Amino acid sequence: MTLAPYAARQETSRGRHVAEPSSGNRTEYQRDRDRIIHCAAFRRLEYKTQVFVNHEGDLFRTRLTHSVEVAQIARTIARSLALNEDLVEAISLAHDLGHTAFGHAGQDALNECMKPFGGFEHNIQSLRVVDVLENKYAAFDGLNLTFETREGILKHCTKAKARHLGDVGQRFLDDSHPGLEAQLANLSDEIAYNNHDVDDGLRAGLLSLDQLAQVPLFARFYDEVITLYGQDLSAKQIRHEVIRRMINYLVVDVIETSQAALSSLQPASVDAVRGAGHALIAFSPEARRLNVELKRFLYKNLYSHHQVYRITSKARRVIKALFDAFLADPKLLPPKFSERVPPTGDDADRKIRARLIADYIAGMTDRYALDEYDRLFDPRRLR
Ligand code: MG
Repeated sequence: MTLAPYAARQETSRGRHVAEPSSGNRTEYQRDRDRIIHCAAFRRLEYKTQVFVNHEGDLFRTRLTHSVEVAQIARTIARSLALNEDLVEAISLAHDLGHTAFGHAGQDALNECMKPFGGFEHNIQSLRVVDVLENKYAAFDGLNLTFETREGILKHCTKAKARHLGDVGQRFLDDSHPGLEAQLANLSDEIAYNNHDVDDGLRAGLLSLDQLAQVPLFARFYDEVITLYGQDLSAKQIRHEVIRRMINYLVVDVIETSQAALSSLQPASVDAVRGAGHALIAFSPEARRLNVELKRFLYKNLYSHHQVYRITSKARRVIKALFDAFLADPKLLPPKFSERVPPTGDDADRKIRARLIADYIAGMTDRYALDEYDRLFDPRRLR
């Protein structure tokens, strides 16, 4: 497969923090992907909530299946645009490594706890996982990934935070854009979660087909499916036939819109892409509008649904209780964390202590967090 001139290439990569000899049989981005798949944080994604808490049912998306869906969508688009499929796969599989248990509720709760200590942000945490926390290699901390994969993992960042992040933070300071593979993984994330959340919401009975038939993007393909097959299909078949068309519509739209933008600008390299002044991987205005309407619908009707709210409110309390207990008494942390807590108490030490606690909590899966909560607070639990 020939790469487009604006695709990422290992020959022009900005490289790894610690230089390594090249692998005989894999590209540098394949190697990044493989390191991600083999890390513990990746395996934890299986037991972390996307929207529905892990024990609510076996068929709902988890962070792991979500990440696999993102990679599938991103690879399809990458191949059509002659972008680097290995890189886009690595970014997609790594993009949620820093997420806490219990989906956004967990992230918001931990961020609230960490406010006095510099906050908590899952994007930055994903980068921290691959740069620092995965520490099983002899020659370096973290996974020593290429700049391009790390650049893709850091989707958003404030300028204040970017100043502390070195090379990957730079683009937030000078308002430039990341490479196309990073832009693509970002958009594929959105396509994946909007569609699978509709699927999971319907499956859970929190959303109805009648309700969704009022949402323009869903309605367009719902009408098409009913016209084609009549009313004989089961609700499950309708759900699937509509959602596969929505995904396809958005994927084709991104391919056509981005191809047109690339053909008109003709960037000669990744650096030309970074300095283009606007994102080149994008939805058409029509698809963007439809997508935003779907997103709004999901916020109002799924993410804020009474049943989801009751569970996430409980999840927030679990995270806060864990954080407060560890902060008050760091000796409660497992030794590998408590040993690193600085003994004295100036501001800098307190920040280090809080960050260690955040790292520990952010690494927890849903069930580990619930279990740890019981271990700490249930007087009858011995260990
Ligand atoms: Mg995601």
